[in-house]
Order: sequence, then C-alpha cells, then structure tokens
Amino acid sequence: MTRAVYRRLPLAEQMRYRCPMHVAEIHVFPHCHGAPAYPVCPRCGRTMEREYMAFCSRCGQILGWRRYQYARIVYVYGEGRGVLLN
Ligand SMILES: [Zn+2]
Repeated sequence: MTRAVYRRLPLAEQMRYRCPMHVAEIHVFPHCHGAPAYPVCPRCGRTMEREYMAFCSRCGQILGWRRYQYARIVYVYGEGRGVLLN
C-alpha cells in the first residue's frame, strides 16, 4: 500500500494497520525445490519472503511474531489452498 492510499483510509482503519497482528499461518510449497515455507500476512493473506519482518511489505500491516511457533502449517499444492497440518 502506498502512503497516499494509506492516508485516504479512515482513521480507525489506519490504526488497525498500526496495531500488531500475529502471524498465525505458514505456507509450505512441497513441490518446489527444497519445499520452501513462508509466513503469511494475517491482513492481506499473501506470503512474505522473510520471517520476523516488522511489517508486511505488501500491505503495511505491523506484524507480531510472539505466537509464530504455534502457527498453522498449510501445505499448498498448485494454485488453491492446501492441506492443513495442525
Ligand atoms: Zn500484508
């Protein structure tokens, strides 16, 4: 999200982006080389390139990582949603 788009949001919505949301899901791509796993942004639902980033690089949501060790692991096959492991 660009800064201009963010500023046009209502104040309540802007504040939601500033309150940390906990990362609670990890997507694993078992058919890709090395079966990479990526954390998922709790707001926009997109995977992130790295763990423990302060905010989502796509939507700007501030992220919390305290519960990351309990995140659901989802195996993703193809385009759709995958198999839930835990
Ligand atoms: Zn996001």
